[in-house]
Amino acid sequence: MGDVDVVIVGAGSAGLSAAKAVRAAGRSFIVVEAMDRIGGRAWTTSDDFGVPFDIGCAWLHAGDRNPYYADAQAAKWTLYHHDMNLDHLYYGNRKASEEEEAEVRKADGTLSQLLESHSSDDDRLSSLLAKGHAVRAAATFSGPMDFGKDDDEISIADFRAAADLDPNYFTKEGFGALVAQFGADVPVELSAPVTKIRWDLPGVAVETAKGTIRAKAAIVTASPAVLAYEEIAFDPALPDAYEEAFFDLPMGMLTKIPIEIKDTRLGLAAFDDLLIERHARHDIFFLCFPFDLDLMVGFVGGDFAWEMSVAGEAAGVDFVVDRLCSIFGSDVKMHVGRSMMTNWGAEKYVRGAYAAARPGKAKARETLSRPLADRIWFAGEHLAGPLIQTCGGARLSGEAVAREVLRTLG
Ligand SMILES: Cc1cc2nc3c(=O)[nH]c(=O)nc-3n(C[C@H](O)[C@H](O)[C@H](O)COP(=O)(O)OP(=O)(O)OC[C@H]3O[C@@H](n4cnc5c(N)ncnc54)[C@H](O)[C@@H]3O)c2cc1C
Repeated sequence: MGDVDVVIVGAGSAGLSAAKAVRAAGRSFIVVEAMDRIGGRAWTTSDDFGVPFDIGCAWLHAGDRNPYYADAQAAKWTLYHHDMNLDHLYYGNRKASEEEEAEVRKADGTLSQLLESHSSDDDRLSSLLAKGHAVRAAATFSGPMDFGKDDDEISIADFRAAADLDPNYFTKEGFGALVAQFGADVPVELSAPVTKIRWDLPGVAVETAKGTIRAKAAIVTASPAVLAYEEIAFDPALPDAYEEAFFDLPMGMLTKIPIEIKDTRLGLAAFDDLLIERHARHDIFFLCFPFDLDLMVGFVGGDFAWEMSVAGEAAGVDFVVDRLCSIFGSDVKMHVGRSMMTNWGAEKYVRGAYAAARPGKAKARETLSRPLADRIWFAGEHLAGPLIQTCGGARLSGEAVAREVLRTLG
């Protein structure tokens, strides 16, 4: 496949932005992507509901710092400012009282204060949580439903380093479609999984299913789980610290189970946020009827989301319909149309939703931010500073790393 200055592994948000930065500096590059499409975890499709639906990222978080927000505005995308405040809360089948809802809103602030003042050696988020309903409901929202992990698997240091993602926007045309538009002019070698990177040469040799590329440097944007599972072999083997860092940044999980609900709005308004808290962490969040579409988008997060992936789509849809019936009555079944369930755990070249450090291991991100022998750099959502886990953050990470590579190449 020839020789270039920089080879970029992966055509998700980070890889595409890295490629654009390298191209803008007039250096040669090649982007190799394992899948048969660009975008990675940013993927909009109309196949399931006849309207654009985001299988991966959907919210444009941190609109004031997220370059995709400006792109969406320029493209005249339909944007909705979503305040993400809980509109409806249920404990099991029981609707929470107004006082309980107010308590949860207050608990959000309590949780932030607890995080701010935390100083003990116990780095597990669970160590902060009182048993009360209210703090737990607040933590469900920002833990499994947001961070993709249960509170006993979240590092406080990691959680605290993540920025407040307000203001958040939702797009009708799809975040994945926006990323596809961003990357449309980047030449990408598709269906070319990288199997090995040799880095004991002058520069690197990157072996793919379609041939080998020689380059001065490589930017690797595959998720840490892909790297932990050794989908890409490194020769010589990576120093232990890198291997450990991949392991210490396991993927959290967020599974979407959207259900078409026709001819009724169940007394809910477009973009309402509904949380059903259960015992045994079988909690579910619903984004209700976005853009007044006939869609209730169910979300489960953390361990339960992994369990749901194993149980399969039919079980997932059953669970969601059952929860809706338990609250709105069994007539809901008559209104159910098409449905689906996302399964990012089964996507070999991603293996989860986004990375979250194990308790006590937040420094793993720093380790992976260091280039290897000035030849291999890592980039992506897992290395996006305060915007970790987000698609906008991945883009900024790709750009920043490309600038570092260009400086090193001189
Ligand atoms: C269900 C879900 C919901 C989300 N919701 C939001 C949200 O609302 N807002 C938000 O901002 N973010 C959200 N995210 C996170 C966001 O999608 C990611 O942070 C972002 O898209 C990651 O971009 P990336 O470039 O770092 O990684 P990726 O998109 O994973 O790109 C890496 C690319 O590398 C490729 N690759 C892997 N291995 C190889 C190999 N061996 N050879 C060649 N190519 C390889 C992959 O196929 C992939 O295309 C969500 C994610 C999920 C899964």
